[in-house]
Amino acid sequence: MTHTVTLIPGDGIGPGITEAVLHVLDMAEVPIEWDRQLAGLAALDAGQDLLPQPTLDSIERNRIALKGPLTTPIGAGFRSINVALRKHFDLFANVRPARTVVPGGRYDEIDLVIVRENTEGLYAGIEHYIGMQNDPRAGAESVMLITRFGSERIVRHAFEYAVEHGRKKVTLVHKANILKCTQGLFLDVGREVARDYQGTIEFEERIVDATAMALVLDPYQFDVIVTENMFGDILSDLAAGLVGGLGFAPGANLGEDTAIFEAIHGSAPDIADQNIANPCGLLLAACLMLDHLGLPDSGRRIWDALRRTVVEAKVVTPDLGGTASTHEFAAAIAANLG
Ligand code: NAD
Repeated sequence: MTHTVTLIPGDGIGPGITEAVLHVLDMAEVPIEWDRQLAGLAALDAGQDLLPQPTLDSIERNRIALKGPLTTPIGAGFRSINVALRKHFDLFANVRPARTVVPGGRYDEIDLVIVRENTEGLYAGIEHYIGMQNDPRAGAESVMLITRFGSERIVRHAFEYAVEHGRKKVTLVHKANILKCTQGLFLDVGREVARDYQGTIEFEERIVDATAMALVLDPYQFDVIVTENMFGDILSDLAAGLVGGLGFAPGANLGEDTAIFEAIHGSAPDIADQNIANPCGLLLAACLMLDHLGLPDSGRRIWDALRRTVVEAKVVTPDLGGTASTHEFAAAIAANLG
């Protein structure tokens, strides 16, 4: 069966790393037909909106997309195109696995997953200035929005992910000791959901600051972490740092019936058009996508080839200490496909 996937190459280094990823996927003979669409600066250059309607229609049709990084031009009226996409398709779960690719780093064989709520919390962006006397910006206030609905669906998503992927434990991370209402609600709902999985998946709860320290001291005690938006943002970058940085960090934005896969890094304007960007983040995102499409064997094969190439360290891009171009790196990965 051939799957149709919306492909958004993005801008900056996006088109270069996308071509590299397509080369590896072609060589691995994955049964995918690409529906190419524009967004971001590439769309503006083509005389379209930052987030053109045909791109939204394509994702609506295919329900799955692989996306390169998108620059958000300053003053474009968008807080972020990525946020706009998440909102449009109600992609409430941001799933970021942190898995060691290169052995010999600070920690070997890390394999944990952070499931971050993507729509609520402080990042809902409900904020305003408070004017006092002659100063219109004397203060500022931001609202941490937490709902029973949003908490229930993200914690359930984490447990379902754990069941589907043979994981053993879900850790709910919160700050309910201080934020009694918002974080307290998140924790209470999480405990209720956890009861449905008693005997199948272990459940534990931890406070966010202690979790940050525990992740650095002994990351092996974690399996699946579920948390609200901002804590998830911070902890998932921390976890990416444990496995070698953002270059090896893929992410999935998941809704009830739509999924968008992407690298975590941005469009890297400082090295755009130099053909030296590392394609691994987007390639790992493609591996997550293959898993989601029910093609885990293809995903594993590509993951193994990527790891072999990076460990050999002969043909890698400058960020990994090599001299290879983006395309040469991808060709080396493709040559290592078992
Ligand atoms: P960035 O991730 O683009 O770059 C940070 C640093 O990492 C730069 O020095 C860059 O050269 C390097 N880098 C990033 N990806 C690399 C790769 N694949 N290979 C080698 N080096 C790489 O972050 P930024 O500079 O803060 O953001 C640039 C633009 O990207 C902004 O407009 C931002 O809004 C956007 N952005 C988009 C996404 C997304 O589309 N998901 C995510 C983050 C940032």
